Amino acid sequence: MKKNLALYGGKKTVEKNFVWPVFNERDVDAVTQVAQSGQWGNPDCRGLVEKFEKEFAGYCDSKYAISCVNGSVALRLALIASGVKPGDEVIVPPYTFIATATIVIEANCVPVFVDIEPDTYNLDPSKIEAAVTDRTRAIIPVHFAGQACDMDQIMAIANKHNLVVIEDAAHAHGGEYKGKKLGSIGHAGCFSFQSSKNLNAGEGGLVVTNDETLYNIMNSLRNVGRVKDGQWYEHHYIGCNYRITQFQAALLSQQLTRLDEQTKLRDQNGKYLNKLLESVEGISPLTRGHGETMHTYHLYIFRYDKTKFNGLPKKEFSEMLAAEGVPSFMGYPRPIYEQPLFQKKNFMCYAIPENVDYTKVHCPVAERACYEEAIWILQHAMLGTKEDMNQFVEAIKKIKQAALS
Ligand SMILES: *Cc1c(COP(=O)(O)O)cnc(C)c1O
Repeated sequence: MKKNLALYGGKKTVEKNFVWPVFNERDVDAVTQVAQSGQWGNPDCRGLVEKFEKEFAGYCDSKYAISCVNGSVALRLALIASGVKPGDEVIVPPYTFIATATIVIEANCVPVFVDIEPDTYNLDPSKIEAAVTDRTRAIIPVHFAGQACDMDQIMAIANKHNLVVIEDAAHAHGGEYKGKKLGSIGHAGCFSFQSSKNLNAGEGGLVVTNDETLYNIMNSLRNVGRVKDGQWYEHHYIGCNYRITQFQAALLSQQLTRLDEQTKLRDQNGKYLNKLLESVEGISPLTRGHGETMHTYHLYIFRYDKTKFNGLPKKEFSEMLAAEGVPSFMGYPRPIYEQPLFQKKNFMCYAIPENVDYTKVHCPVAERACYEEAIWILQHAMLGTKEDMNQFVEAIKKIKQAALS
């Protein structure tokens, strides 16, 4: 019955090999030049590092940018610099990469999970206020998959309760909300340049902000607590060496010149796939129309309904789809609060209050996304042609037919 499926030895629907990262001689030259210069590191965070920071801040219409070793550290720097104190609460979504929540623990603060919206998988603004207490200090909305969160509502709630908003834009380089670049709307916006991300140098991270005080503190924190015009062995804050190399900066400057073109292509392909999938019962793409004027499709996510696939479990569907040659994945296996780290409170030396208990947290939409619904198509596949998108849909239809026969 299912013999024609690639998972069981049948012919693959999609033969193309989607490449990532995308680069040419320009990138190779940029890195070679750094090698030849002998200026590999960057103790002063000047030179190519400062150049890239200016480019990226300009790209986001933000005043300042602070590069650092990765996106997790970018989030941590922004949160710590915002002035949180031990025991303060920070609102985060449960359907995101673990770092969005663990950096809160690492600041001795308490992550408070607020569920996501069923149609966008972004933090649900209608559920935020119920989670605000007199200890709440910050919200970290994640522009999940590259789709803008409802920033008007989130900023309004934050202003009302005097909360800091740190955008996790690790999926959202070049994405826009009502014409504004994601990352530039809250008090700080954090990016990752890890190899899977839409803009990458293997590793790396960055914070954009318009706030000069935040900028100065973050600048010091990423450089071992040093300050401008201070001595080399003069340390003002409990920072660390979180600097990037000139190799990363050179590569990122080159990669940034491609970003707009790539983002537009993913955005177009995403809209096209949405249209195609309207005709497939049991497959519902996350919905657009929530203010995103540019969706980066770091992930193209659709919701799978097994009842329309003869009860075929999501995990099996996902394996079949990947075997058909669609670069895809079933996503997070569980919401963050269900990770052993949170269930067992393995918080090591961090000072999280005794009464915090994550075994009692339930976010039904995030749980459904993990266990039942979400299928991710990866961003590099969204750089394909329309014909590739047609084939992705063919692969889904082929699996459906096999399941129903
Ligand atoms: C990748 C990612 C991060 C962390 O970035 P790293 O560079 O891997 O530390 C944070 N948040 C989200 C949503 C991510 O996907």
